[in-house]
Amino acid sequence: MTGRLRHLTCGRTSHDLGRMFHGAPRGVRQFPSGVFLYDAPGGRRVLFDTGYATGDWGAGWRGAVYRRLLPPIVDEVDDVAAQLEADGVEPASVTHVVLSHLHPDHVGGVRRFPSATFVFTEGTLRTLADPRPRTGVLTGLLPAWFETAARTVLGPDDFRTTDVAGVPLRAADLLGDGSYLVLDLPGHADGHVGALIEERVLLAGDAAWGSDLLEEAGRMRTLPRLVQHNPERYRQTAAMLRALADAGIRIVCSHDPLGDRELLS
Ligand SMILES: [Zn+2]
Repeated sequence: MTGRLRHLTCGRTSHDLGRMFHGAPRGVRQFPSGVFLYDAPGGRRVLFDTGYATGDWGAGWRGAVYRRLLPPIVDEVDDVAAQLEADGVEPASVTHVVLSHLHPDHVGGVRRFPSATFVFTEGTLRTLADPRPRTGVLTGLLPAWFETAARTVLGPDDFRTTDVAGVPLRAADLLGDGSYLVLDLPGHADGHVGALIEERVLLAGDAAWGSDLLEEAGRMRTLPRLVQHNPERYRQTAAMLRALADAGIRIVCSHDPLGDRELLS
């Protein structure tokens, strides 16, 4: 397999790690919003998440509350479509958009891909049907056409237990050739998924706030714990990702600050 995996940063926010984890030193850290484009051999293009929305969010008072609590830093140049175009990629050529979950820093650019097939799970669909404030989902960020967009909704039967470097994972083979496995990474949000690309790079979404923070999963403070869908499964997922990292798989979380743009070369 010889695809290409590119990393883009579509906006960012900042948090104090000391407020997130017991024992972590105080200090504000930047959390870029990562978006990942996989060019598969054969012409299919799979985007993993879409970053923050630029401009007016159109998400009402809930959007205003969210922006006050977790202020995003996002300019027009951070727009996912603008960045793809600058990189020679026509947004309409993206065939699939995998949504790890529906938090605002992952779905802001959905509106740029009206002709793509959206890939997400039944758990994500449940959240969409009942977006309670605790889920952190702002349905106003999704375009009106999203309900009728082409979609692949993955249910439990679509995930098979797959051995990766000696670690059993629940995986759905998106392209049918093993190059792009959508992974069940439960805990952060109902139906949260990641992706394993060419058995080398694992896009972990928000399974942790950073690949260097997997060890901290058991030391989360009360408030950040409360916003996890299932804190115990979050901790188990982090342990599984640590085992994969030990086995040589590169773990990339959505909010990792990455120095490299090309992740498979
Ligand atoms: Zn999230």
